[in-house]
This record gives sequence, structure tokens and C-alpha cells, in this order.
Amino acid sequence: QERFVSSRRHPEDLGLEIGLRPRSLREFVGQDEVKRSLELAITAAKGRSEALDHILLHGHPGLGKTTLATIIAQELGAGLRTTSGPVIERPGDLAALLTNQKPGDVLFIDEIHRLPHVVEEVLYPAMEDYKLDLIIGQGPGARAIRLDIPRFTLVGATTRAGLLTPALRDRFGLMLRVEFYHPDHLQAIVTRSAGALQIDIEVAGAAEIARRSRGTPRIANRLLKRVRDFAQVHGDGRITRQIADAALNLLEVDNRGFDRMDRRILLTIIEKFDGGPVGVDTLAAALCEERDTLEDVYEPFLIQCGFLNRTPRGRVATRLAQEYFDRKPKKGKQP
Ligand code: ADP
Repeated sequence: QERFVSSRRHPEDLGLEIGLRPRSLREFVGQDEVKRSLELAITAAKGRSEALDHILLHGHPGLGKTTLATIIAQELGAGLRTTSGPVIERPGDLAALLTNQKPGDVLFIDEIHRLPHVVEEVLYPAMEDYKLDLIIGQGPGARAIRLDIPRFTLVGATTRAGLLTPALRDRFGLMLRVEFYHPDHLQAIVTRSAGALQIDIEVAGAAEIARRSRGTPRIANRLLKRVRDFAQVHGDGRITRQIADAALNLLEVDNRGFDRMDRRILLTIIEKFDGGPVGVDTLAAALCEERDTLEDVYEPFLIQCGFLNRTPRGRVATRLAQEYFDRKPKKGKQP
């Protein structure tokens, strides 16, 4: 079962997300560096009436990569097609997408690191020279053809740039990293979403949800929806700090946005392994989790907020973590 605080898209998020998506760079909260680079590139491309350079967006799920792709198309005044790496199974699927675009259109490929190899090879000349190399027919009658396609902009998204083959990575003109959001920015997002959903929320209520949303807009919006339900049933519909606190406690999302699994990981390192360092495989075994899941899903947020360190000798629960759980740091200097 998916965790409630997972940053991946839940089916229940879908309708909500489409309605809450900012439609312009100006409406897009935070990520100032990304916005600045995009604005410059878009203005320059428009000024030259050229297709925008191919753009790679990387960052954890739920931080706004899909949203940025729609905004890029919007700001360019171009059409947008959205697909994802594993969906494009054969070169023909890619050809169908690329031949049906108008000049300057944007193709968004989510999870681009999961593109099959045979498709990736066809993508290279398409990105570089706007040419498609295809094989028509089979056996001795097969022949290679080269097709011109309209100039287009590829926007690729991936959770980790390192998962891409270097050949693909090199073909992007712009690589932009989306980061976890500062609580102030998340608070602005919560307030904005509450406005769009006509939810009555106090500033302190929005701040409480923001603080516990793991730096991730997708989670913030999901928590907001649940807290609204709680406010309706247990209050008068208005989201105050107390209501937000009670609702999130009920959902087992603690003060830092940790859920049961986060706490289990940190407490395992602290209690079973004396605070670490403990090798990632040993830790995964102790938790009965896959190593990959531990590294990709659970650890990034714990590292980001300074509770966990990856060291060459293994994982370490930091002093912050030990203090949070009221355990004395192992080698801590006593005040
Ligand atoms: P990703 O593609 O990185 O998984 P999405 O673009 O689907 O993330 O974002 C998830 C949801 O979070 C969107 O529907 C949108 O409502 C919200 N969101 C993301 N980034 C922002 C932002 N900067 N400002 C406002 N809302 C945002």
C-alpha cells in the first residue's frame, strides 16, 4: 500500500492536481533559479522565432516537473503532448508523436530514464537534427528511411539525472534541478490552493500544513484536502492551526512531516545500530525493505532535512535525529 506521505502521484491526486496547477511562470511559486533560467531561454527563443532548446528537469516526484512542462508550452504559445518513458515502447510510437507535432511544439516525456534503448537511439537524431531514422519492413526487403520532422522542444523529466545515459543527457541544452521547497513557499502554495478550492484557512493553519508537507507541493495539496475534511467534520470548516495539528496527528504525520516508516528507519539506526554507521544493505535487511526503495523513496527527505547522513561507512543518524527522538547522541558533547 502507498504511504500517505508518498511524493508519487496517488490516483486520488489526479483531479485535484489538474485544477490546482499554476498556468504561468508568474503563478509558479518558488524555484526562483529554475524560473529565471526558463524565462531567459523562453524569451530568447521567442525573440529568434526558434524552437526552444531541449530541457531536462530533474528532481523528486511532486516538485512540479509536469507543471513546469505545461507552463513552458503555455509561455511559448505552443502545443504540448505528454507521455512517459515506459509508454513509448517502439520507435514507431515515438515517430507517431514527433510527426504529428506543429513546428515549435513541446513534447513532454516523464520518467525519460525509462525510455527503451531502441527508442532512445531514434530520439538522438530527432533531438539534434530533427530527423527520424526508421526501418520500414522486415527481413531482406527492409529499408532505412530518413524523415524530416518539425522542429520541436523536448522536455524530459526524471527523478535523478544520473539515471540517464550520458548520450541522452548531452543532448539537452538546459538541465534544471527542482529542489524541495522552503516552508514559506509551501505555505504560499497551500494558501493558493485553499483559495482555488474555496477552503477557509487561517495563516497559522496553512503554515502548519506547509511545515509537515516534506518540502513537496503534491503532499501539501493532499494534506490540505484531508485537513479540510477533518475541519468539516470536527469543526466549523475553518482550518485553524489546532485543526490542522489534530488532523495531521490522526494521519500519523508528525511535526516534521515524518510518518511511521521514517520514524522506523531513524529509530532502527539509533537503537539497533547505535546511531550508525550501518551499511545500507544491513539497514535494508533490518527494515525488511528493498535497498532501492530505501535509497530512492525514504532516504532523500531524511537527508534533506539533516536527520540522516550517507557516509562511506554507511548510514548515520545525525545529532538532530537523536535529539528529535530524545536519545542522547553517542559521541555528543554534553552541554
Ligand atoms: P512532478 O511532475 O514533479 O511529479 P507535478 O508537476 O505533477 O510534479 O506537481 C504536483 C502538484 O503540485 C501539481 O498539480 C501542482 O498543483 C502542485 N505544484 C507543484 N509545484 C508547484 C508550484 N511551484 N506552485 C504551485 N503548485 C505547485
